[in-house]
Amino acid sequence: MIFACDVDGVIANFTEGFSRLLNKLDGKDRLPIVKDNQAETWEWRDWYALDEIPRDELDRLLEDAWEKNIKKHGNSLWSSLKPLFPDTMEMLNKAAREHPVIFMTRRDGPGAWQETSSWLRRYGVDNPMIYVIKPGEEKGNVCRKMGIKTIIDDSPRYAPELLKKGISVVMPWWGYNEEYIDENYSKEPRLFPTVGLKQSLKKCRDIEENN
Ligand SMILES: [Mg+2]
Repeated sequence: MIFACDVDGVIANFTEGFSRLLNKLDGKDRLPIVKDNQAETWEWRDWYALDEIPRDELDRLLEDAWEKNIKKHGNSLWSSLKPLFPDTMEMLNKAAREHPVIFMTRRDGPGAWQETSSWLRRYGVDNPMIYVIKPGEEKGNVCRKMGIKTIIDDSPRYAPELLKKGISVVMPWWGYNEEYIDENYSKEPRLFPTVGLKQSLKKCRDIEENN
C-alpha cells in the first residue's frame, strides 16, 4: 500500500503565500491576501478584480513572482509557505512511514525538491520521499509507473488526467475546486471529496483497505 500526496493546497498554503508575494512585489498594498486557501478560482489571474489593479500590471507582477522568486535558487516562495493543517502534521508523518507516502508536486524552480524536503522536515515529516513532476510529465503516468493507485490532490485541472489513468483522487474541498467536485462527483466513482488533511489521510487508508 502506497499513495501519493500533493503538497500545495493539500499540506502547504500556496494561495496565501503567493498572494503575499504578489503584494510585496507590488509594494502598494493593493492586493488583498487570499487567506485559508479559499481562492474562488483555480486561475490566479482572477483572484483580483481588475479595478484593484490593471491587468497589465498584474501580469507583470505574476511574471516577476515566477522569474525573480520561484525560479531563483535557494530560498524561494516554497520555503515561506505555512502549513494548512499544522495540527495534522504529526499524523501525516506517521502515515508517511506506515503506507508509505510519496509527496508528488508540480512545483517549479531549481529549489523545488530541496525546499520541499526542508519544509516537510521543518514541519515534522522525517526524511520525506518527494517526486517533482517535470514539464511534459503527468502525475497519472508517474503514479502508474510507481504502482500508486491513490493520490490526495486538490487540483481541478489535473484530476481528469489522473482519473482517466485509473487513479483514485482524494480531493480536499476548497472554493476553487467546488465546481469541479459538484460536476464530477456523481459520475466519477474514483473521485473522493474530503474536508482537510486528516479526513484525506483516512480516506486513502479506507480506499486502499477496500481494494
Ligand atoms: Mg495542489
